[in-house]
Amino acid sequence: MDEHACRACRGSDGHLVLDLGEQPACDYFPRQDDPGPDPVYPLQMWLCSSCGLAQLLADPTVPDEPRGVEPAALVAQATDAAARVAAAGLLPERATVAEYGSPHGGSWLGMLTQRGLVPVGDGEQADVLLDCFGLMHAADQSGALAERAARLAPGGVLLLQYHSLNTILRYGQWNALRHGHYAYYSTAALTAMLAEVGFSPTMAWGFNLYGGTVLLAATRNADGHDGPDAVVRSLLADDANVGVCDPNAFSGLQHKVLTHAKALHDWLLAERSAGSVVVGYGAASRAVALLRQAHVYSSLLPAVVDASPAKEGLRMPGTDILVIGPGQLAERRPDAVLLFVADLMTEVRCAFPEVEAAGGRWVDVETLGS
Ligand SMILES: [Zn+2]
Repeated sequence: MDEHACRACRGSDGHLVLDLGEQPACDYFPRQDDPGPDPVYPLQMWLCSSCGLAQLLADPTVPDEPRGVEPAALVAQATDAAARVAAAGLLPERATVAEYGSPHGGSWLGMLTQRGLVPVGDGEQADVLLDCFGLMHAADQSGALAERAARLAPGGVLLLQYHSLNTILRYGQWNALRHGHYAYYSTAALTAMLAEVGFSPTMAWGFNLYGGTVLLAATRNADGHDGPDAVVRSLLADDANVGVCDPNAFSGLQHKVLTHAKALHDWLLAERSAGSVVVGYGAASRAVALLRQAHVYSSLLPAVVDASPAKEGLRMPGTDILVIGPGQLAERRPDAVLLFVADLMTEVRCAFPEVEAAGGRWVDVETLGS
């Protein structure tokens, strides 16, 4: 294998910190009549010893995402985040704004326009540059950050939102690793990347989304600033405690792959023995890796419900489990619905009261074996 060069600093010194073996592309949902086998590719996380960026080692897959439905939790978080950033004085009326969005959807532009900000055209400079889960999708991390930095008008603010590596390590969220997501940011590594383009973090806000999401505000050093606020300082201290740049701190993540997969398999076996009807909910990328690691096929879990019409009639990558529409959830009269996206819990319990009314229960897959 060719030596890997860090996607941020180009350094070649680093460690393989999480290895999920061969995995199907998590965004390639085959048709139900496609018998497979689906192509598989190595899925590995590498930690740069020079700059500390955790990253996807290689990605031979081609993005092919059936666009998902935006969870209510994501919309609520965006509203909350914009309000908090505005309260800090970073979203002044008539400021220009540009957005680097995520291919998974979820734009803030409508909301920011309502607050009086003015979107600019493609490639134009803006006073507020927002990147909400966008940067992680760039294979060339330093190039992508440099592009964003160059588009920021003098005196402007760069807002970067990311699911933090600190959260991934703390909660053992090993299946956050997926093809197409090239970087897994700690606040520490992102601060080092920002320094390379002459920026520093000044403020930050934390959110419960995905167990722990950070919105970081950074400005140009040339514009002058008061240094990082207390939240940024505490995020950096927390990163040091967890050991986000220490390959040894990742061993628990690799161990969790085995324990989590076994817990899921055992639970499904027990449910089947008890004669329970179980269906899954949320055909998300993290479900793909988990089902494969746990060797779950349709004999244990016949179907996964997903709200995205684009996924209906397809099957989960790497297994024979069908993806079905929400209309079929009640018909199946499940005793248990296994939820693969914990952030959806409140929303789905509310949207499908018939599940619990008929004596069924919702089970957060993350709680199995923990
Ligand atoms: Zn690096």
